[in-house]
Order: sequence, then C-alpha cells, then structure tokens
Amino acid sequence: MNLATKVANLRDLLGRIERDFSPAAFANSFGAEDMVLTDLIAREFRGIQIFTLDTLRLPKETLALIDVSRRKYNSRPATYTPIFDLADDFVRRNGLFSMYESVENRKSCCYIRKVEPLNRALALKKSWLTGLRREQAPSRSDLGESEFDTGHKLTKFNPLVDWTGEDVWAYIRANDVPYNALHDKGYPSIGCEPCTRAVKAGEDPRAGRWWWEQAGEGGQQECGLHVRAVDISRLKSKVGVTA
Ligand code: SF4
Repeated sequence: MNLATKVANLRDLLGRIERDFSPAAFANSFGAEDMVLTDLIAREFRGIQIFTLDTLRLPKETLALIDVSRRKYNSRPATYTPIFDLADDFVRRNGLFSMYESVENRKSCCYIRKVEPLNRALALKKSWLTGLRREQAPSRSDLGESEFDTGHKLTKFNPLVDWTGEDVWAYIRANDVPYNALHDKGYPSIGCEPCTRAVKAGEDPRAGRWWWEQAGEGGQQECGLHVRAVDISRLKSKVGVTA
C-alpha cells in the first residue's frame, strides 16, 4: 500500500474516532510517529484531545519541540505531570538515578511519572490513540489497529500500526512537520533523558531505551504505558498509591 493510500485511510480512521469514540485522547510523546498524528489531528480533527505526559525528566530537545509545535498548530496539549509528593518522596528515598540500580526502581519511577498520570489523562475517555507501530519492537509485532484496553476499560487505537519508518519520515518531510532534533543524532525512540540514548546504525530501534536492563531480569524495554494486562498493584503499593 502506498503512502497516499495510508494517509487517506488514516484520515478515515481519525474521522470515525472523532465521530464515534469521543471523548477521545491522543497520547503525544512528540516522537516522529506522534508528530505525524499531531499534524493531522491538530489541523483537521480537533475534536480529538491531544495530551502529553511531562515526566519532569524530558530532554531539552523534546521541550523545545513542544514549544515549536504549540506555535505551529496554535494548540497546546493538555499536560499531566507526576503527583509532586509521590515523585519527591521517591527521589528522597532512592535518588535521582535509582532506575539504573534495579528493574523494580525503574518501574516504580515509570509508574509515578508515566502510568499514574496516564490513568488521570484517560479518566472519563471513551478511547485513546497512540503512535505505536508493529515494526518498532518484537513486543509490538501483533498489535492491532484497535483493541480493547482492559486496564483502562476503553478502546485503544494504534492508527499507524502498519506504517513503516520510511512512511513516517516521508510524511514528515512532505508536510514540513517539525520533529525532535535528537532523531538527527541517532535517537530513533525518545523518552526521558536518563533512560534514552542514541543507537548505532542497524541496531534495534528500542536498544536506546533502558539499555542496561536484560529481558531475563524482568526488564522489558516498555514503561508500562503499553504493556497489556499488566499487574501494577505491587508497584502501586510500593510507591504509596492506594487508588
Ligand atoms: S523513563 Fe526513566 S526517568 Fe522516565 S519515568 Fe521511566 S525510569 Fe523514570
């Protein structure tokens, strides 16, 4: 399928989501895929809310892109930050870089800074959208265009699921879409500053995320936002969340 057909299908899907699955919210992390969705949603489907999770550990390049995007599209994403007391208490007890010390610490940090704010962002929504693609990681190889998110109890759409990396960059260039400066420095996937690094040519695109963890030690190179049927009750209790 060529790119023009994929874009036409994407427009159809976004229109259906806006019409039949509102309130709908797009989780925008300002990576390349998310900028494709930002470009279409902000220009043509403004009934879909755009939100972002500001973990307070984002690289300055991402913060700069958020500002550029706000000016270009004349829209500011709804921003969800961690509960200050939870984040502060965790840092006081474990330090700013405890994610390198254990998978449990890393997952607790992700829970406080990403998962709990995501839960707030998705409250009372009927659907949410992501920029996930099958090609990005083995853990995403069986993703569908839509699925029922049992954790949040709403429909989750992955509108770019069958797009290739080439499709994403062809769209960005053809439509003059702003993108994160770190992509030009070898970062295919961008998250928090302490947990993201550049990868070598030909390396797995996810190799730059939580690279110090081994899958066999419980690491999974996912932050919990997109892990299906994850049991987070132990983490909730560890970080002091009761809701
Ligand atoms: S990606 Fe790293 S800094 Fe960001 S929330 Fe997860 S562990 Fe914390």
